[in-house]
Amino acid sequence: MKNCIACGMPLENIEDIGIENGEDIFCKYCIRDDKSIKTCEEIFDGGVNFFLTTLPELDKSLAEKAVRKNMNLLPYWKGKDNECLKGEEASDEEFQMIMGRLG
Ligand SMILES: [Zn+2]
Repeated sequence: MKNCIACGMPLENIEDIGIENGEDIFCKYCIRDDKSIKTCEEIFDGGVNFFLTTLPELDKSLAEKAVRKNMNLLPYWKGKDNECLKGEEASDEEFQMIMGRLG
């Protein structure tokens, strides 16, 4: 299965795919209406909102740390100087706990 290279979302359904550019696939949430790729900040905020909407009991700072960890694991963001990806990341335990709750 393929994943969005910017947020890691699994792309099980064709309608979840926003743009396919050879090996580079972005989900529909990581692009704008004009098909341009969202900025790191926009994708980061979208990820935090997703966690807080799906898991309302989650602490906002923990959601931010988990999104930061997730995005920093993706090769797409490696070597790019993005302020929102600097700072504290969730621990492996915290990350596993959140991912487990997402089911
Ligand atoms: Zn995405």
